[in-house]
Amino acid sequence: MFDAVLARLDKAAQIFGLAPDIAEILRHPKKEVAVSLPIKMDDGSTKVFEGYRTVHSTHLGPSKGGIRYAMDVNADEVRALSAWMTFKCAIANLPYGGAKGGIKCDPRKMSVGELERLTRAYTRSLSDIFGVNKDIPAPDMGTGKREMAWLLDEFNRIVGEDSPGVVTGKPITLGGSKGREVATGRGVMISTLAAMKKMGINYKAATAAVQGFGNVGSHAARLLASQKIKVVAISDHTAAFHNENGIDLDKAFKYAASNGNILKGFDGGQLINNNELLTASVDVLVPAAIQGVITAANANDIKAKLIVEGANGPTEADADAILNEKGIIVVPDVLANGGGVTVSYFEWVQNKYGHYWSEDEVNMKHDASMNQAFENVWFNAQQFKTSMRIGAYITALKRLDKAIRYKGNY
Ligand code: GLU
Repeated sequence: MFDAVLARLDKAAQIFGLAPDIAEILRHPKKEVAVSLPIKMDDGSTKVFEGYRTVHSTHLGPSKGGIRYAMDVNADEVRALSAWMTFKCAIANLPYGGAKGGIKCDPRKMSVGELERLTRAYTRSLSDIFGVNKDIPAPDMGTGKREMAWLLDEFNRIVGEDSPGVVTGKPITLGGSKGREVATGRGVMISTLAAMKKMGINYKAATAAVQGFGNVGSHAARLLASQKIKVVAISDHTAAFHNENGIDLDKAFKYAASNGNILKGFDGGQLINNNELLTASVDVLVPAAIQGVITAANANDIKAKLIVEGANGPTEADADAILNEKGIIVVPDVLANGGGVTVSYFEWVQNKYGHYWSEDEVNMKHDASMNQAFENVWFNAQQFKTSMRIGAYITALKRLDKAIRYKGNY
C-alpha cells in the first residue's frame, strides 16, 4: 500500500517540480513503533496482539490520525495510511502532521471487556508517543467513541491530569465535538456537491451508489439523500442492494441497528454483488468501505461520471490512468474524506479553549473549510493540467515544501 502512496507522491513531485531532497524526506515516515500486547481473554487464555503507530510527518504540527482495528492491519498499511494523513491535513489547511495506528484483531469477534483491555494496553504502550501537542489519535475502521474514551481515561491515569485534547472523536460528554461523528460523511456530501457544480450536473436529478455502511458510508448516503440525490445502491461487507426508486435510508439505518449493524437480510432493494454496485449506472460512485476496491481489472467497467472517495485508498494506483482516460472525475480520499479530521481539529481547539461550539457552528466552519480545500485542489489540478488526485497532492506539497524549508535541516 505504501507503494501506492509513493507512486502518487512521485508523480505529483515531478509535475510540481518539488526539490528531490524534500521529496526524499516525505518518502520516509519519521517514526514507526510496533508493540506486542498480551491480553487476558475472557476464557482465561492469553493472546498477544500486534499494535502499530507510525508518525509520518510533524512538519506542519503535531501528528494526527486514527487507530484501526482490523485483521489486515500491518506495518505497510499503517505506514501508507499515516502518509495519507500528512497530505490530508495539509490539503485541509490544518496545523497537523500525519500519523496512523492500528491493531491486528477482529473487533467483531471480541467481547467488550477484551476490547477495553486491548485498547488500554495499546495506550500504555504508546503513552510516550501520544500527547496533546505531539501525536493525537482518533477513530478509524473498527473503532469509535467508546475506544477513544478508554484511550483518554488510560492516558489521563498515566499523566495524572485531564488532557482531553490528546484524542479526538470522543463522546461529547468527555469533551467530544458536536458534529464529529457525521463529519466524514458530511465532507463527502460537500465534496460531491462541489464537484457536481463544477461538472454542471444538476444534483437534484442525480443518482448515487455508496459502498460501505459504516461511519462514513451510512452518513454520506443519508446526507446525499438529504440533498435530493437519489441513492440507488448501498452495501456493507455482508450484502449489496439496488433500488432504482432510491433506497429508503431511514429504513436501512433502522434495519442495520436492529440487526447487529449489518445489512444482510435488508428487504429495501434487489440483492446485487459488490462489483455490480461499483459498476452501477449512476452519476456518482462513493467507495466508502475499504482500500483497493477500484482496480485495473474493474476500472474500465465503471459508469459513474464522478467518484468521491470516502474510504482511504479505495483506488489502486494503476487504475488512476484508466479512470482519467475515461474522463471520470475522481475527488481523491485525501480531499474527500478530510471532513473527519477537520472536525477532529475543531474538537482539539475546543478542548484547548475549554469552550464548546454549537453543532451549527461546527457544521458551518466544516463546510467552509471543505469548500476552500476543494477550490484549492481544483485550482492546482487546472493549473498543472492534471487530475484532481495529483492536484490534491500538489496542494499538500506546496505547504509541506514551505514548512520543511522554513524549519531547515540539521
Ligand atoms: N481516521 C480518520 C481519517 O482517516 C480521522 C482521523 C482524525 O480525525 O484524526 O481521516
